[in-house]
Amino acid sequence: MRVFSNAITLIELFKDYRSMDSDDKNSFYQSKCDYYQNYVSISLYAGVLFSITFLYSDYLLNGSFLPTLLPRLSILAALLLFILITHFTKKRSITVFMDFFLAHCIVFATIWSIYHLDNKIHASEGFIIMNLVFLTVGFVAKPKETVISSLIFIFEIIISHSFNHYSNVDIILALQVPSALAVITSHFLLMLFYLDHYRVRQKLELAMVTDPLTQVYNRHLLERIVTKNALKDVHGPIAIAMLDIDYFKQVNDEYGHYTGDLTLLYIGQKLSKGTHEDDYVIRYGGEEFIIILKDCDVNNACARMEQFRQEIENATDTPVSITVSIGVSRYNGDFSKSIQNVDHALYKAKNSGRNMVVVV
Ligand code: GH3
Ligand code: MG
Ligand code: MG
Repeated sequence: MRVFSNAITLIELFKDYRSMDSDDKNSFYQSKCDYYQNYVSISLYAGVLFSITFLYSDYLLNGSFLPTLLPRLSILAALLLFILITHFTKKRSITVFMDFFLAHCIVFATIWSIYHLDNKIHASEGFIIMNLVFLTVGFVAKPKETVISSLIFIFEIIISHSFNHYSNVDIILALQVPSALAVITSHFLLMLFYLDHYRVRQKLELAMVTDPLTQVYNRHLLERIVTKNALKDVHGPIAIAMLDIDYFKQVNDEYGHYTGDLTLLYIGQKLSKGTHEDDYVIRYGGEEFIIILKDCDVNNACARMEQFRQEIENATDTPVSITVSIGVSRYNGDFSKSIQNVDHALYKAKNSGRNMVVVV
């Protein structure tokens, strides 16, 4: 039955959520914020404008627009501040704070307007409608933040009762508590369903930068490193190596493409195991690999690659006996120039007899 399978899905997602460490959770919530913030901003703009149209219901209660004109329009100042600050930041903590700030300013404007209403009997409807605004903001908030905001909202109603003297504060609170619980529950569920979406996205992103044969990175990652200038924050020297299997065409010709594929897989896996976790092993082309070695100077890179070359030459577990040629160069801040250098080093290794490491 669908209700059971939904419950099982939610339990699995909750377990996944609980297993995330704080860094994972921060990336997850940042991603949720990036994904939904545009929706939240536009909904808040609409919320602000619709709250101003409540002037008409004020008119029906007061017989005049004037008493609540300033309170209702005051929300425009908060909106301006919101637009200014959210324009300059994408940071989740500030963005979400501003979302809640604007939502609570709508509440303040409502409380101020109620102060000027002759008949306060409809205040409860006004507060219930406010939950629509909080329902919106929750799309980018953590459940904990929604809980805090809901408590603040209840607190605002209680405090404002001291000067607004709602004729039905008990009913207002009796309606507000379940409404807040509904908002919190809805956001908790939304958070879990977004986690499902987030995991699918992570898998797709990884698949996009992974070579299906060798399971190392592919050229998409290299493009990303270049376009995002991803090496600029790395401390210490960076070395680049380019590896090419010698006479690989002969392997295919003599042993068939399947054995050729197994050989590529072997090299890819051996490179992955032989490098550090934050180094990059990339299948650059057919039987060419690029290795980006972080915090590693050229001499060290050369020594590591020479060791790798010897291991391949002497390996007994390769699908066929092979050798590799490797070019090594220092990363000089200009990626295309560094690739040219390393390509040149590999060319020299090939021309000098293959099965060697050359530095440029
Ligand atoms: P060199 O020592 O000069 O590098 O000689 P080579 O034969 O290795 O160089 P060449 O570039 O002429 O040949 C590369 C071969 O790699 C040609 C192509 O058939 C093979 N190749 C490219 N991609 C794959 C792949 O995915 N699987 C297999 N099995 N072979 C591939
Ligand atoms: Mg080759
Ligand atoms: Mg080649």
